[in-house]
Amino acid sequence: MKKLTIASLIIALTLSITACGAADTTSSSQDSVSGTEASQTESAAPATADSAESKTQGIDYKALVNKLHPLPDGWEDSLETVTVKNSLGDDVEVEKKAYDAYLALKADLEKDGVFVDLDSARRSVADQQRIMDVFTKEYGADYAIKTVAAPGYSEHHTGLALDLYLNIEGEDVYLNEDMVQYPEIWAKIHEKLPEYGFILRYLEDKEYITGYGYEPWHLRYIDDVDAAKEITSKGLTFEEYLGAVNTTDVTVDLGTSELYTEDELKEAAVQVKCKFATFDGCMLQSLRYAGDECNTEENIKWLNSLDEGAEYTKVAEFLMDFHTPKENSGAFDADKDMKDYQWWLAQDSEGSWQIVSFGY
Ligand SMILES: [Zn+2]
Repeated sequence: MKKLTIASLIIALTLSITACGAADTTSSSQDSVSGTEASQTESAAPATADSAESKTQGIDYKALVNKLHPLPDGWEDSLETVTVKNSLGDDVEVEKKAYDAYLALKADLEKDGVFVDLDSARRSVADQQRIMDVFTKEYGADYAIKTVAAPGYSEHHTGLALDLYLNIEGEDVYLNEDMVQYPEIWAKIHEKLPEYGFILRYLEDKEYITGYGYEPWHLRYIDDVDAAKEITSKGLTFEEYLGAVNTTDVTVDLGTSELYTEDELKEAAVQVKCKFATFDGCMLQSLRYAGDECNTEENIKWLNSLDEGAEYTKVAEFLMDFHTPKENSGAFDADKDMKDYQWWLAQDSEGSWQIVSFGY
């Protein structure tokens, strides 16, 4: 992402949607939107309407923001940031304290001959909304909702999420596919993160929890060296550390499958939950895999016909029960039990899931 224009954001967003969200321009994670969860989210962000007051209270450096946990209320009023220019000439906005910690980390790395810079950090909810609006206008609301992460649900909104790029022998290396070619450099960087209050946010093989594939460049500042050390040494995701991986609040029945591994089905279920989290006010009651018999030639053909250029080779159907909001929200009739609501996901030869269709 050389230039942080709306166009490049759109590309980034589009690319990022693959895993429940995606690379990390969007965001996501586990658990569901049960009443308990909702109230937890609210209590984490006390509703002090007065922004001046919340400013003095500051932000919660351990706030969880992912596709199921939106940016806490009042965050953008309380946030203090600095804007700096990176070596590519782009402006990057970072939360103040996180930036100081980043500078200390950067200086330490340079002693070891490792050179990094900031690719992107904060993106406001309004920016995300703008992208959503552009997509809605260009491609229609259905496509936009499916493709663009919901504004409010990206960790980059916090100002505490930093995407790094590398400078190797005087050359900037900022494309994801190039950056992943240097695991030994990332290892050196990751080793030093906890000392400065950072954690690596999207770990390898934890996609079914975070909703994201491995991103060696995406750091999260948590302003707590001890916690960062604990998280790192135990190999935890932030969700696991915060106890926000909640599998008991809703029944997910993965059934049995000869077609998919348990991890594949878990990952598919996470994606469904992530998307469901954008159904305002709806309460998830249960989710189940419909069984391998959904993977017919006919269904594969059908889902391929819905996504232009898609080459899906396998499909999976999930069935969901949920309850609609007490007040009419426009999308569904109020206060209704929705049974056997269908979710259709597909995999291409790469094996990553896409939600292709949902509804009755
Ligand atoms: Zn990121």
